[in-house]
Amino acid sequence: MDCCAPTNRVGTMKTNCPNCGQNGRRVPLITLKSLLKPAALATLEPDRDYAFCPNPSCETVYFAWDGSLTFAVGDLKVPVFQKDSDMDVPVCYCFDWTRERIERAVRNGGEPLQEIKAHVQAGRCGCEVNNPQGACCMGNVAEFIFDR
Ligand SMILES: [Zn+2]
Repeated sequence: MDCCAPTNRVGTMKTNCPNCGQNGRRVPLITLKSLLKPAALATLEPDRDYAFCPNPSCETVYFAWDGSLTFAVGDLKVPVFQKDSDMDVPVCYCFDWTRERIERAVRNGGEPLQEIKAHVQAGRCGCEVNNPQGACCMGNVAEFIFDR
């Protein structure tokens, strides 16, 4: 396979969670490799494509495209923002902005969104290896701030 060939697998394609039926977004394999606990990682089939289930009421975090393999919240080393409403759960994983820290900063007149945006623009964030959704947290941060 030509590694530089354009692929339609990344990003926009959607598939349904075998547990709850919700649309999942494709996540890079490196996200699973960096966030799965050793016992779960030991069952990973690296030649499959994986998606992330964002449904808050579903235990499944990752599933293989064909639905044959799933990983649940307990299989990850970190709590999953979409599936855990605790205040000490990170919204921005790279720079450790938990709900509580954002809440406190905004109350004190801070602008965590601008701060995070500056790091993103400077190329410092590593969402694909830190954030369980495998993608940038900015949307979640903005939503959390404005929906508080
Ligand atoms: Zn699900």
